[in-house]
Order: sequence, then structure tokens, then C-alpha cells
Amino acid sequence: MHRVDTIAAVATAPGRAGIGVIRISGSGASGLLQTLAGKLPQPRRATLSRFSAADGTLIDQGIALLFPAPRSYTGEDVVELHAHGGPAVLRLLLQRCLELGARPAQPGEFTRRAFLNDKLDLAQAEAVADLIDASSAAAARGAMRSLTGEFSARVNALRDLLIELRSFVEACLDFPEDQLDFLGQGQVISRLEAIHTRVREILATARQGNLLREGVRVVLLGQPNVGKSSLMNRLAEEEVAIVTDVPGTTRDALRRELILEGVPLHLVDTAGLRRTADPVERLGVERAWAEIANADVLLHVIDASRKTEDPAGEVVEALPERAIKIRVFNKIDLISGAARATVKDSEVEVWLSAKTGEGVPALRSAILNAAGWQELEEAPFMARERHLAALAGAATALQRAAEHTASPELLAEELRIAQVELGAITGEFSADDLLGEIFSRFCIGK
Ligand code: GDP
Repeated sequence: MHRVDTIAAVATAPGRAGIGVIRISGSGASGLLQTLAGKLPQPRRATLSRFSAADGTLIDQGIALLFPAPRSYTGEDVVELHAHGGPAVLRLLLQRCLELGARPAQPGEFTRRAFLNDKLDLAQAEAVADLIDASSAAAARGAMRSLTGEFSARVNALRDLLIELRSFVEACLDFPEDQLDFLGQGQVISRLEAIHTRVREILATARQGNLLREGVRVVLLGQPNVGKSSLMNRLAEEEVAIVTDVPGTTRDALRRELILEGVPLHLVDTAGLRRTADPVERLGVERAWAEIANADVLLHVIDASRKTEDPAGEVVEALPERAIKIRVFNKIDLISGAARATVKDSEVEVWLSAKTGEGVPALRSAILNAAGWQELEEAPFMARERHLAALAGAATALQRAAEHTASPELLAEELRIAQVELGAITGEFSADDLLGEIFSRFCIGK
């Protein structure tokens, strides 16, 4: 294998912990360990070792692991040092690795090398980051399915079918005299339809996975005192075990993260969107507005016990068209009304009581429905926007191909486009800047 420079990074989270891991990868990794520990452990054997500074003093004692190329995460020589997990110890140890010829790893650089050395395809590499970032068990499961290659295998199987069909069509181009029977012979139309159907199925599953990853941006708005905060608390309370309040000061009081059926909801309560002179709070308000501009679902809360109805003024005006609006009539306990959810001219209405909790489950379902969440037979794969765009691009090309079955040249071209789209998912065809964009979002040490 050609020589590659050696990178090192602390792979565990910053802060104090029982153990901290430093990861090293590259041609100099084993030489570095030899100097650092005074001996080389057997490959893949956890070995108690002493890690020493240049002057021979002991930095720490811990476990050293050596994974010689190519049987390692990156495909290069990889060393892991399991030391005590204090920030000072790890800093000293990392510093020593740098003295011994390593350079600090860029974010995602280990995984990037794994990709470049064919240890993972691009969708799997992305799943590594998605697994680490997963905020719910469902999201973690979805990421794991992508990481083990199930998503890639499905995409590759489709790509193979496409290649087969494309070769047939292109062969026909070379022998135009046979074209008359071209469609019948190769069952071109039925094969095309079968591929198209499968692309759409994968797209549906991937969309669900994308929701698990990205979540749904929900904005609550309405007049003061209609019960927005109570409703937000009620929604959050039912999921109390997994609610993560965004930490911080007043500026975050209007934002909340919670998880419904594994789907993260990013809630913004516009009750907090008041004019303020406090610069910190103003910053929070600006961020909330940015969130509103991207809202997926809008909860317009109305006090059902009050006669006068509000247009919710300037906020409604400012709302993005694409957001799905749900009208929530709150406080039905005051009017002895029944909880219900109705859909009328694509407008959803939910009648509930934030106080008693009656009708709140219907609201949760309405929010998830609005966001496009549906239980599919198949568990979702974790998927990114980029994957959805590629699958949609392939579906469109196949649609056009179906319209061109009378013209083998055009048909062949659309099949080629569909193949390129699918190949982009696994990184078969991918530009350097796409790789930069993907891996720069990883954490350091991964
Ligand atoms: P916000 O200003 O829209 O955030 O409204 P709050 O959540 O602060 O609620 C205003 C008042 O209405 C409080 O006194 C709540 O206890 C009360 N409230 C909220 N939801 C309900 C409800 O479903 N039923 C009744 N009876 N009172 C409610």
C-alpha cells in the first residue's frame, strides 16, 4: 500500500470520563506506537502498555490496540490508545503523538479514509455520522440499517437491473435492423416498470428515514392566554422520559425538542416572540423567526371558550405557504365539548384540552400525518436529503424513459441518467466537493 500521512485525534467526547480513546491512522501509526509504548502489541490484541513522554516520564498507562492494514476501520494501519479519560491526560498523549509525526485529524477524516479505501460506501459513511447523531431509538435503528449496507444493497440491486436493461437497449442501438422487435424481445416495458416501482418503494422508505433524521419543525402561534405554553408542556410531558429541553437562558425558553414515535419535533412557541431590548433575548427571537420561516407544521391555537376569534395577525401573514396548518381549538373542558379531529378542505382542526389532556393524542397523530409520517411495513433506512434527491431524480428519469420506449436512443440516455443518480448515493460517482461537504460535518476523531 502507498504511504499515507498519519493522523491522530481524541475519539471520545470532551470532558472527564473513565476512559478516553485516541485514534491514529496512517503509514506511521505502528512506528509511532513502538516509540510511544516501547513495544508493539500483537495485532488486534488488547495489551496493557505504558505511554511515555520524550524524556521517558510516564504520561499514562492503558490499553494499546494495533490493527495492521488492511484489516482496520480505515484500511490503513490503525492504533487505538485507551487511556484514562481526563482532558489533561488526553491532551498530553495527543501532543506526544503529534511530536512523533502524526498530524491532527480533520473532522470525519478517519471515515473519509475508510470510504476512499473501499471499506464503506458513501451512504454507509454518512450512516456512521447519523448513528452518532441519532436522537431516538428509531433513528438509531434506521442509521444502523444504512450502516450495515442494507440501504446500499437495495440501491445496488436496482442499479444492476438498470445496467442490464441499459446494455440490452444499447446493444439494440448497434443493430438497428432488429429494432422492430426491440421492445417485445427484451420485455423492455415491463422491466422498466418493475425498476420504476422499486425506486418509488425505496424512496417512500427513505422519506420516512429522512424524517427520523431531520425531524419536523412545528410552530405554535395564537393570541396570549389561549394555552400555547400549556399545550407545549402537555405535548412534552407525555414524552417526559426523552424530552431534551434546549439548555440555556430565556432565549431558549421558546424552543423545545421532543420525540413522537421516534420522530424528533422541533417546537417553537411564538409566545416568546415579543419585542425586547435585551440583546441575548433578541438573538433568540431572531433564531425563532428563522425557524418559523422553515416551519413544516403550524399549530394555530385558538381558545374555544372565547367567542371572538383572532386572525393571529402578523404572524400568520409571515408564515410560509408550504407549512401545513393545523387549527387547534383548546380548552374544550370549559365548553363541555368532545375532543375530535376533522379534515375539511385539507384544513385540519383538532379540538382538545391542554388542561385535561383530552384530544392531545389526536393532535400528535395530526402532526405526524401532516409531516408525512406513516408506518410502513418495512422499517425505514436513515436517509439524507441528498439520497432523496437522487432517488427522485432516478424516478423522474425512469418516468421519461417510459415515455420514450419508441426511441431506443432517448430511452438509453434516460436509463444512463437514472444509473448515475443511483450511483451518487453510494458514492460511485461523486465529486470531491461533495465529499468535503459530507465529511466536514462529522465530529473529529470519527
Ligand atoms: P399562552 O399565553 O397561549 O401560552 O397560554 P398559557 O398556556 O399560559 O395558558 C393561559 C391560561 O389558560 C392559563 O391560566 C392556563 O392554565 C389556561 N389554560 C390553558 N389550557 C387550558 C385548557 O385546556 N383548559 C382550561 N380550562 N384552561 C387552560
